[in-house]
Amino acid sequence: MKRTDFPCLDVKVHNKPLVYFDNAATAQRPQSVIDAVTNYYTKTNANVHRGVHSLSGDATDLFEQARISMAKLMNSPSDKNLIFTRGSTEGINLVAQTFVRSRIQKGDEIIVSEMEHHSNIVPWQLLCEQTGAQLKVLPFNDNGELQIELLDALITDKTKFLAVVHASNSLGTINPIKQIVKIAHAKNVPVLVDGAQAMPHIKVDVQNLDCDFYTVSGHKMYAPTGIGVVYGKMEHLEAMPPYHGGGEMISHVTFEKTIYNAVPAKFEAGTPNIAGAIGLGAAADYILKSGIENIHQADTELLNYATERLLAVDGLKIIGTASHKVSVISFTLKGVHPHDLGTILDHYGIAIRTGHHCTMPAIKHFGVPATARASFAFYNTKAEIDYFIESLDKAREMFV
Ligand code: PMP
Repeated sequence: MKRTDFPCLDVKVHNKPLVYFDNAATAQRPQSVIDAVTNYYTKTNANVHRGVHSLSGDATDLFEQARISMAKLMNSPSDKNLIFTRGSTEGINLVAQTFVRSRIQKGDEIIVSEMEHHSNIVPWQLLCEQTGAQLKVLPFNDNGELQIELLDALITDKTKFLAVVHASNSLGTINPIKQIVKIAHAKNVPVLVDGAQAMPHIKVDVQNLDCDFYTVSGHKMYAPTGIGVVYGKMEHLEAMPPYHGGGEMISHVTFEKTIYNAVPAKFEAGTPNIAGAIGLGAAADYILKSGIENIHQADTELLNYATERLLAVDGLKIIGTASHKVSVISFTLKGVHPHDLGTILDHYGIAIRTGHHCTMPAIKHFGVPATARASFAFYNTKAEIDYFIESLDKAREMFV
């Protein structure tokens, strides 16, 4: 677990050393992940689950080993509970269109929270349009903490599902998932947790959380893009219909009838992102070897240091001040539009994100059209934060 494991951190931007504070958009990849992908293409490139030849067997072993590593990282009861997807977005769409679609009717309700990423809003809106169900919203307070005390009353006998983010990508809030699941389960409402931002920062234990589904995006946790997993409880995965039809998800096909394959193959139609999955396995191994507690401690230290320094900047307001946060800081700076700020900082070599961060309703809550967002990973440094604050001051001076 060290900065030098991540080669892309050495690049220069506008002739300045890169300061990469856009980890919530996508993290950097360690050399071990890059090597795992390269080794697959250079030494074991073959399709999986299909060939009797040795290379296909080797590729299949690496692919399935990745599932085992992810199961270990998430404390899944078995690797069979994990379906490879393109990421959280696909995981949420899969659950919406299979599990939830098969049990929802006109007039039923689905609950999401006010701080969801668009990928945990729009799939539910699509489902509502298809079925006549209704979307309901659990609000957050002005610190960006969910108003859990309202949840019990929000759940009615029409509520069929609840989908909530574990850690917010725009506010940084870590939600009390275990408590939310308990309240929902007391009323027989299954829960999906969007874990895209939680996986790289905090210990995720799907059995302890007792959630029904948990979605992961590989690229936020040092793995390649276009790969992730969705965890599901086995009784759900076995009962729900497939998502996509095609090769691999079948055990027998005739023109009259198709018998589906066992879980998880039932949900993995077509040739998968083999290299991506192998890279994801290597990223899971990297986190397991580093210890998520050590990663969490390092990025919390950066979060606290940056928060303290930012609060001292004249005209700066932090958006999202929950007491439990991952290392994400959204802010506004008086007199400077976030996009201008992002462009100026880029000239200093600093990469931040500006805009609504695919959470328009959450940003709207604060009455601003956009924020700037600095998001840290354990490999960032306090010296980088000092340089960022200096650069912010220079940017502010240009506008006042
Ligand atoms: N949920 C959250 C909280 C996210 O931050 C993101 C990515 N920004 C997503 C879902 C979607 O993830 P992906 O684009 O990897 O599917």
